[in-house]
Amino acid sequence: MTDRCASYCRYCTRSRVVSGVGEQELHTNFEEAYRYLETHTEVRDVLLSGGDALIFSDDKIDKLLSRLRAIKHIEFLRIGTRVPIFLPQRITPELCAIFAEHHPLWMSVHVNHPRELTIEVKQALERLANAGIPLGNQSVLLAGVNDDLETMKTLVHKLLMCRVRPYYIYQCDLINGSSHLRTSVAKGIEIIEGLRGHTTGYAVPQFVIDAPGGGGKVPINPGYILYHDNEKIVIRNYEGKIFEYPETGNENVQFAPQREYHDEYLYS
Ligand SMILES: *Cc1c(COP(=O)(O)O)cnc(C)c1O
Repeated sequence: MTDRCASYCRYCTRSRVVSGVGEQELHTNFEEAYRYLETHTEVRDVLLSGGDALIFSDDKIDKLLSRLRAIKHIEFLRIGTRVPIFLPQRITPELCAIFAEHHPLWMSVHVNHPRELTIEVKQALERLANAGIPLGNQSVLLAGVNDDLETMKTLVHKLLMCRVRPYYIYQCDLINGSSHLRTSVAKGIEIIEGLRGHTTGYAVPQFVIDAPGGGGKVPINPGYILYHDNEKIVIRNYEGKIFEYPETGNENVQFAPQREYHDEYLYS
C-alpha cells in the first residue's frame, strides 16, 4: 500500500520496498489497481499488505475500503498490519467503526513475542474483534527471540486470550542482513511438534517456508505419516503412538519420500 510502516522490522520480507530504500516509488493513487481488480472477475479476495495501510488517515482508509467493496466479485478484504502492535492507539473507536462498515473484513497482525502483547495492544485487539474483524497472527521465527517452545506456547495462548488465532509461523526469509536472526528449519518443526496435541488446535499455527524465488508458502510439518499406500495409511500421534487407517477408493497413492526410511521401523 505504501513504503511506510509504524516501525521497521529488521527481517522484513519487504525490506527492499519499505523504509525509504527507494526501490519502489510511493503510490498515492490506486486507480490502476482498482481498474485491474474491476476487470479481473476471478479475483475473490484482496489483501492490503505492507507498507502498512493503517498509517493512512481514517478518511483515506474509508475511501479505499469503500472503493474495493464496490467491486461486486470481491468476496472479502484483508489487511496485513503491524499497527495494532506497534501503535495500538491508532486503533481508535472511529477507525473501528469504519472497518465495521466494510465487512467481511479480516485482519492479520504480527506478534513475535508474548511481551509484545501489552495491555494497550490487548485493548486495541479487543476493539478490532468487537468491530467484528476475525484476527489472525503471523509470527517470524527469530533466533534468541522466540525460537523456543515455551516462548511460543506462551505467545499462542496469550494470542487466543486477545481473540487472535495463530495463523502462520514463518521460517525467516533470506533477507540481507538478517542471518543472525535466522533459526534452523528443524527448530520450527520442533515447535509445532510441541504444540500439536499438547494444546488446543486453535493455538497451533501453520509453519511455512516462503519458497525463495517466488514459490509461495510451503507448509512444513512434523512427519506424522509413516506409511501410505492404496490399502492403508500408517500415522503416529503427538505421543509417538502408531495407528493404521484403511485407505478407500482406487486412487493410485504415491507415497515415496518416507517409505524406505520407515520400512525398517514398520516391519521389525
Ligand atoms: C503470505 C502471502 C499472501 C497471503 O497468503 P495467504 O496464505 O492467503 O494468507 C499473499 N501474497 C504474498 C506475496 C504472501 O507472501
